[in-house]
Amino acid sequence: MKRLLSPTEAHWKQLTKAARDVRKKAYAPYSNYLVGAALMDDLGEVFIGCNVENASYGLTVCAERNAIGSAVAQGSKARFIAAVVTTGGEEPGTPCGMCRQVLGEFARGVTFPVRCLGEGKARIDTDVLSLLPLGFDAGVLAKGRQS
Ligand SMILES: [Zn+2]
Repeated sequence: MKRLLSPTEAHWKQLTKAARDVRKKAYAPYSNYLVGAALMDDLGEVFIGCNVENASYGLTVCAERNAIGSAVAQGSKARFIAAVVTTGGEEPGTPCGMCRQVLGEFARGVTFPVRCLGEGKARIDTDVLSLLPLGFDAGVLAKGRQS
């Protein structure tokens, strides 16, 4: 199968629909802040996730990290070419710091675009490395190891 390098408009539409559909399944009884995420890998496979809250707030897992976990669990090589994150309200939200770090793990120095959407027309088009400047990665880890 041919590897995809970047998303087409059809891919963005597919990811947007997937993220908006899974957002409806979010478990967010505490914040009522429902989030859906959809990632596409370089084989065109789509992986989805929604936020799952917990009464012990720190155990909440965001939509983005659930989508990445789904991709890894389903055997994707996790070479992502695009991500869409959807939230409620008119203005889009952006991934939290923890999710930026986890997305950065899979950018592997080659960024990929991230589109953030709310329910209105506004959108934020960015990319993983812009969301996480000077991020902590395997290279930083290797440099800081005791020898
Ligand atoms: Zn997050």
